[in-house]
Amino acid sequence: MGLFSFTQEIAIDLGTANSIIICDDQVVVDEPSVVAINVADNRMVAVGRKAQQMIGKGGTLIRTVRPLRDGVIADFYACEMMIRGLIRMIPQHNRLFTPSIRMVVCIPSGSTEVEIRAVRDSSEHAGGRDVYMIYEPMAAAIGMGIDVESPEGCMIVDIGGGTTEIAVIALGGIVSNKSIKIAGDDFNQDIVEYMGRMHNLRIDEPTAERIKIQVGAALTELEDAPEDYWVIGPNKVTALPMKVPVSYQEIAHCLEKSITKIEGAILQALESTPPELYADIVKRGIFLAGGGALLHGLAKRLTDKITIPFHVAEDPLHAVARGTGVALKNVNNFGFLIR
Ligand code: ADP
Ligand code: MG
Repeated sequence: MGLFSFTQEIAIDLGTANSIIICDDQVVVDEPSVVAINVADNRMVAVGRKAQQMIGKGGTLIRTVRPLRDGVIADFYACEMMIRGLIRMIPQHNRLFTPSIRMVVCIPSGSTEVEIRAVRDSSEHAGGRDVYMIYEPMAAAIGMGIDVESPEGCMIVDIGGGTTEIAVIALGGIVSNKSIKIAGDDFNQDIVEYMGRMHNLRIDEPTAERIKIQVGAALTELEDAPEDYWVIGPNKVTALPMKVPVSYQEIAHCLEKSITKIEGAILQALESTPPELYADIVKRGIFLAGGGALLHGLAKRLTDKITIPFHVAEDPLHAVARGTGVALKNVNNFGFLIR
């Protein structure tokens, strides 16, 4: 940003797990959606990765909050703090002189009027002067290079941290959408329970997340199988340290129920899709975005089960943010943005 430019333009993907800011098509901020707040005076002490490192360690002095845990703003104050904190992390952000900020922020497709209002208020309070909003699946589709204004329909499945969103898009609009509260956080929870039950090992969410990333799987047979992952932790009963190898097969079993629920939701969405659009979807395949799309074998499992090809976005963790970035450059052409 030049010395004399008074308007800053940013696109924000406020995710339940990760928040991303794009300026000029570049990812300039990519942080976990976590805020740490000092309990005594209610001030923000950290945001993003720094705040994430404080989870479970702040005792009664510091409270860590994930403002969007279930896909909607659960904590307005924390959300606003987070937006402010993230904007301050933009490398070229001018601290002495707050420029007028044009923002495009994405929102879950199932957002109510009240929730949309809340995101707008938070964004304005955080410095946005000219705030537009875009529905997440729309942003995901644009981020994957899909022409959302075409009459040919497409289906997007975005598996994030707190929610899985399934949407059908055609002619620049969301024809139908379905959101379920089963996603990456639930996979982590499944793993925490499984490790306790099967291995007597007590772990918490960050370890579960590492297990998921290394050996998380949606199929018990994979072509490029990851090696076992060794986990160290306390024995639930004796409290003595133990070291356990975890295979992708057992994690596939442990995630089975949650993945079946996601599968069921996709089938329901297909069931209620008008036949003309259904035909388009069968022809083009279904597009997978969000961090959950990275689960080993997920696209293959869904393709086999639903018998429609599933395509994983090139960069599933950034598809929504990239699409929001494209929307930022087209605020005057994209009629589907919300003012
Ligand atoms: P949100 O938009 O809700 O913030 P993201 O699209 O950023 O969510 O995805 C975050 C989720 O993806 C988290 O639950 C994270 O654990 C999960 N995730 C990230 N990388 C992987 C991976 N390699 N395998 C499986 N899950 C992953
Ligand atoms: Mg997301």
